[in-house]
Amino acid sequence: MPVPTTDSAQAPPKPAYASPPGAARPYGIDSWGFGFFGVNTAGHLTVAPSKIRGLEVDVLEVVREHVRKQVCPPFLLRFPQILDERLSSLHQAFANAIEEFRYPGRHIGAYPVKVNQRPDILHRLANSGRAFDYGLEVGSKAELVAALSMPLSDSALIACNGLKDDLYLRMAMQASKLGRQAVVIVEDTQDLARTLQLAQTLSERPPIGLRVRLSSRGSGKWEDSCGEFAKFGMGTLDLVQALDMIREAGGGSQLRMLHFHIGSQVNDIRRAKQAFKEAARVYAKAVQTGFDIEYLNVGGGLGVDYDGSGTASEFSMNYTVQEFSNDIVYTIGEVCATEGVRAPTIVTEHGRAVAAYHAMLIVEVRKVVTPGLAPAEYIEEIRSVAEPVLELVDIARGINAKNFRERYHDALQQRRDMTSLFELGYLGLRDKAKGEWLFWNTCRQVAHFSRKMKDRPKELKDLDEMLASKYVCNFSMFQSMPDFWAFDQLFPVIPIHRLNEVPTERGVICDITCDSDGTVDRFVDIKHFKSSLELHPLRPGEPYYLAFLLLGAYQETLGDMHNLFGAVTAIDVGIEPDGHRSVGTPIRGNSVRDVLGAFRYEPEEVLNAISRRLADRKAQGLLGQGDEHEVLATASRLLDDYTYLV
Ligand SMILES: *Cc1c(COP(=O)(O)O)cnc(C)c1O
Repeated sequence: MPVPTTDSAQAPPKPAYASPPGAARPYGIDSWGFGFFGVNTAGHLTVAPSKIRGLEVDVLEVVREHVRKQVCPPFLLRFPQILDERLSSLHQAFANAIEEFRYPGRHIGAYPVKVNQRPDILHRLANSGRAFDYGLEVGSKAELVAALSMPLSDSALIACNGLKDDLYLRMAMQASKLGRQAVVIVEDTQDLARTLQLAQTLSERPPIGLRVRLSSRGSGKWEDSCGEFAKFGMGTLDLVQALDMIREAGGGSQLRMLHFHIGSQVNDIRRAKQAFKEAARVYAKAVQTGFDIEYLNVGGGLGVDYDGSGTASEFSMNYTVQEFSNDIVYTIGEVCATEGVRAPTIVTEHGRAVAAYHAMLIVEVRKVVTPGLAPAEYIEEIRSVAEPVLELVDIARGINAKNFRERYHDALQQRRDMTSLFELGYLGLRDKAKGEWLFWNTCRQVAHFSRKMKDRPKELKDLDEMLASKYVCNFSMFQSMPDFWAFDQLFPVIPIHRLNEVPTERGVICDITCDSDGTVDRFVDIKHFKSSLELHPLRPGEPYYLAFLLLGAYQETLGDMHNLFGAVTAIDVGIEPDGHRSVGTPIRGNSVRDVLGAFRYEPEEVLNAISRRLADRKAQGLLGQGDEHEVLATASRLLDDYTYLV
């Protein structure tokens, strides 16, 4: 079988930017930026939501403008125009493939609501997708009603997945009364029996889909959502049974769709091809048994190149959007031609690839903690006669490019001795402070000398990690990038300014939750990943802002309220054809009142409890009149405050 060869549209999208300045190179923006992100001459991060050169948003300007109006980070900047761009370029990729391979059918897309279910996003996609009959994919009752409220085109599909109870089924079946095409996709024969029965009771003839489990698996993190042991869908035996049941119920014309989903973030195109081939074959064979099935839904899975490596690594992909589309269209066309069946309308449910790029989180660095950093003059003032401290003084003094490794081992030993002495009570706090400073100072020198080694041993490489500064930022990783925590997913991180200034520090990023897991210590790198990021030293009196990018898919709902930090403020940003920036009204993040309410506290009751206690203490003469009011005023202001640092 010939292999698809389209190259025309496979070239990566032309970046809207010239190469970023050399100082910005460590961030790899060229690799993962996908033409959306760049750096301007002022050294600021910019966004070109429509990938048009000259129409860029200066991110720092947007941030400053909001800070002036007391809307402070953390906040999400959303670029709805990026959603439009992704949608139309995905649609275009399929249009190209259909033309190239003369595919005798069409393609329509559906957005899986679970990827990011905010109403503004669904509205945006529904509106900009009307021209392509873009639909929605839902997996629960809540997602279904939300989908039914959207301004879809009349021919758009609503694909109803997931297990369903009576009301879910009823609502899906009654969608036709709203002029909506909701396809009830059933997972197993029991589901099917209930669906057919309810349809009869309601005298509805809803379009039905069957979710089929493929034996070929996807690839990457989510490959388990596919394959013989997957949680979802019917195996061959179930499928045969289901087809018989539909036939017996006289519902042959109701079977409108076969559905597959190979799992998210498919990183290896070869596995995807295998799956498309199998899917097309199942479709053709089912049609040959007498069903005129209009839709072949191949689900989602199209990846996002988070680390910019363009490889089959976990958070990348070794193919382009065009190649993926080509493979789907070509394979289905080819199989249907050889099997002599009509080519179906191809349905895709790409979510991650549509939503990931459109949102970035802006955080402010609140402080930088560097191990053992203190002014040298201050340390020299401390006179210590403790043995290990004196030894450390000598080690630090005599270290050079030849003896650094030995001196490092000596320093480790002296530090151990120092710790034991302290534990036994023979060392004062000031001695210990001086000793620690000397130790870290030595480590810094060792790291410096060892970086020049050809084969740097692990114990010396580890020094970089030990010495990395902690950039403490005002955000919660658990809320804003849960996938980093859940499975070490990498997201690009970059300062939004000073990008024409060489970053001289190395740091990891810590959030403000009281949880040591709230640390970002893996960063995208050309080779695999790096455990600290190049950053700039703070300047007194000047804020330092970082952006986490590609957060538009899956992060918001999976995020949790650890430490009762809730949702962050979100701001829509766009750019008009004349170059003017358009900025929406900020959608405020959660207040303390909101998050307490979400956990079933009654905020007013909390306030009343405080108030009662104050009254009691005043009655006992422990409190003056003014104190009572003041404390109460503080508490009630706090309830309405943003949960993050302001
Ligand atoms: C989650 C899901 C998708 C979306 O997958 P992406 O990899 O985000 O494109 C599509 N279809 C179904 C059935 C899903 O469950």
